[in-house]
Amino acid sequence: MLTIARNRKMKRRLAIAALIASTATVATVAPASAQNNFAALSSGVTNTIAEATGTAATVARPAHGTFTSGFGPRWGSFHNGIDIANAIGTPIYAVMSGTVISSGPASGYGQWIRIQHDDGSISIYGHMEYLYVSVGERVSAGQEIAGMGNQGFSTGSHLHFEIHPDGVTPVDPQVWLANNGIYL
Ligand SMILES: [Zn+2]
Repeated sequence: MLTIARNRKMKRRLAIAALIASTATVATVAPASAQNNFAALSSGVTNTIAEATGTAATVARPAHGTFTSGFGPRWGSFHNGIDIANAIGTPIYAVMSGTVISSGPASGYGQWIRIQHDDGSISIYGHMEYLYVSVGERVSAGQEIAGMGNQGFSTGSHLHFEIHPDGVTPVDPQVWLANNGIYL
């Protein structure tokens, strides 16, 4: 019975995905194996174009919301990432597949998640209220990894997102995302 219910849910998602495919925010690309696609479905991915087309997303939007702060000098220091504001609990997605290397408390970030991607880059997500992944866990692009929050050095519920392409040096995530077809 459980299987039937899940299949119904999947079919409904596929139908919804087809409807919104023209405005989907995921940069699609490489074909995925059926197995990977199933894994994405069962892990609750809501970036649905991958489901609709049978392809895997290589880069996904980290969160939906209002772009509130860019990369660069701010408040006498340097803002190493971008901020996207939305309600507490708003889904936060892994931007690419990879392995979780941090998930828990971190100074300034309140709580953070760091993901090491297969190309050596590292993405960082901060201030979350809820963490859904653990260190060592494998995640796929577009997988929901956390719920937005207001923890740490934060003045309202938002995601702080950083991308370090070489694993060390932060670059402007707005530019990086745009280079991957995702515009904030
Ligand atoms: Zn920030």
